[in-house]
Amino acid sequence: MVIVLIGPPGCGKGTQSRLLTQALNVPAYSTGEILRAEVGAGSELGKEIRGILHSGGLVSDDLVNRAVAQRLPLPECANGVVLDGYPRTLAQAEFLDHLLSNLKMPGVAALHFEIDEPTIFSRLSARRYCPVCGRTYNVVSQPPAHADFCDDDGMVLMSRKDDHPDVIRERMTAYESVTMPVLRRYRGRVHRIDASRPAEQVLAEIESRLALSVTA
Ligand code: AMP
Repeated sequence: MVIVLIGPPGCGKGTQSRLLTQALNVPAYSTGEILRAEVGAGSELGKEIRGILHSGGLVSDDLVNRAVAQRLPLPECANGVVLDGYPRTLAQAEFLDHLLSNLKMPGVAALHFEIDEPTIFSRLSARRYCPVCGRTYNVVSQPPAHADFCDDDGMVLMSRKDDHPDVIRERMTAYESVTMPVLRRYRGRVHRIDASRPAEQVLAEIESRLALSVTA
């Protein structure tokens, strides 16, 4: 199964992608994480896209399409894959459909994470991430065992530059104008998920929806 996670910033895609990877034993790729890793490494590409990421805009379709096209043919994707934050534009959704058909992989099951705006802002202001392993925390609802340090590797946790309120607004505008149409393209293959609930409940809802779609 190829599961794509679509939702506004702060809806919990990253958390669910991590949980789904464990539950389904398939890899998950986050285009946001792939791009942040380039910025963090200070590569030529990272320098090019740094400003776009920090301002909340979208990088070019070509760039993310290539990143996904390099990964989906890997043997680890043979039993399925979770895509977090991709596709985010209609052009990316078209590219993905062609890629899956060329690779003879199943079509997409899309999960639409629905959440209200005040919850988005309060979640993102409390979000911290580990710059090394990418694990995310919420200092209020999912704090690390030792304040400010990653449970997995002990690194100092950071706030994302794009979790500033002005940048969140830009990201939401991009989501509404450019990404919402992707949901219309996936009509009939989209499961609406109430993403405002605690992570374990969201996962349970996803699991039951996906089981339903498999037997439908
Ligand atoms: P995310 O981690 O999903 O919130 O993504 C962080 C940032 O990475 C976004 O605000 C965009 O600048 C960029 N990005 C991630 N995925 C995509 C994509 N599919 N298309 C274009 N830009 C993306």
